[in-house]
Amino acid sequence: MQNQNRPNQNQNKNTANGQQRSRTTSPHQAQNHRSQSPMGNQRNPNPGARIAAAYTQTAYPHQNRNKRRLKRRKGAVSGFAVVLVVMIFVSLSLLIVRSIDWEYIFSDKTRQPFSNPDNIVYGPYITEQEHDAYLTKYVTVDADQIHRGPCILVNFDVPYIFEEDEDVYSVFKNKTKSYKVTSGSVFLRMEMINALNDMMDAFYAKTENRNIMVNSGFRNAKQQQEVYDSKLQLNGAEYAEKYVQKPGYSEHHTGYAMDLAVYDEGDLEVEGDEAMWTFDGKNEYFWVDQNCDQYGFVLRYSASKEDVTRIAYESWHYRYVGIGNALTMTNMGLSLEEYVNFIKDYSYNGTRYYITADNGDIYCTYYVKSNGQDGQKIPIPKTARSYQISGNNIDGFIIAALVGNEQQ
Ligand SMILES: [Zn+2]
Repeated sequence: MQNQNRPNQNQNKNTANGQQRSRTTSPHQAQNHRSQSPMGNQRNPNPGARIAAAYTQTAYPHQNRNKRRLKRRKGAVSGFAVVLVVMIFVSLSLLIVRSIDWEYIFSDKTRQPFSNPDNIVYGPYITEQEHDAYLTKYVTVDADQIHRGPCILVNFDVPYIFEEDEDVYSVFKNKTKSYKVTSGSVFLRMEMINALNDMMDAFYAKTENRNIMVNSGFRNAKQQQEVYDSKLQLNGAEYAEKYVQKPGYSEHHTGYAMDLAVYDEGDLEVEGDEAMWTFDGKNEYFWVDQNCDQYGFVLRYSASKEDVTRIAYESWHYRYVGIGNALTMTNMGLSLEEYVNFIKDYSYNGTRYYITADNGDIYCTYYVKSNGQDGQKIPIPKTARSYQISGNNIDGFIIAALVGNEQQ
């Protein structure tokens, strides 16, 4: 409610807290200041004057001046409030904008959640050691383990070092129904049999063909000598040199190599008319060549690498190296000889080699040089869902870790 008074008239008003306050409205006073009147502690002696003033105020120009002044004062107060609100809003916005990690949002981390974490810059709040403990776990290996594992190189130059009791299993007893095996005495590492089951199940689902046959697997030195002698006798020295390694230098000693064949049921009317054909990797069998890396296998002696492997093209000989390594070898077009050197450029604390499988699984691979001591600690990313540590059979370890999936 506005005070609208005649000039020279005091008007008293009850305030909210019950105290009385007077407001002088004489023209010169009103234009200069508001003041407590010493006369103000009285009720308006003439309340009717207020009502009369309401109807006659326009007759007094200085009354309108008061009104305009009041309006200006009100305008200044609300203007100040608006400025205050804007300032608060701007300050809060700045705080929020500053608290957002723009660097993270615009970095590759959003698109590559499993990118190499080694780019992190260490600040005052976390030491490199603390950061390492947060990201890394260590697996202990002994020095002679460089001769063990799916990625060991065995060739003319690098012999296999036999174990007293090789950890191999019958394919016949452990295989699925999607393929065949020539006898109950074909043995492979269990890890490889599991991968072979997955690959052959996928091949059967695609082709309804279950005629792929595992013809040969693990061989000890004596068995390799027998193979060599029989090839020598049957095909001559030149052939034996070209296709068969001498005992100690065959991949078949590792338990991670196999020869495939194709079983032909033949004409059921004719007894004995069944045969085993060479696995040539053609027609529908080309699928194996094209997809084996997704299951951890490589065609070990390809036609394009004869000068590197010094073994003639073998369309039937497959080697298990584990998925991460097989994907990298296939992607880079490397033989195992070349891969063992290639991976030496990748290390846990330097750059790791990242590769993604068809199903979205992301693998990182790297090399750790052997220090020649038992109890060496091999670093593994703590985020790894699974990992494989393999010797290279020469001087160190090749690690392949499954660190995530692109679709998750
Ligand atoms: Zn072979």
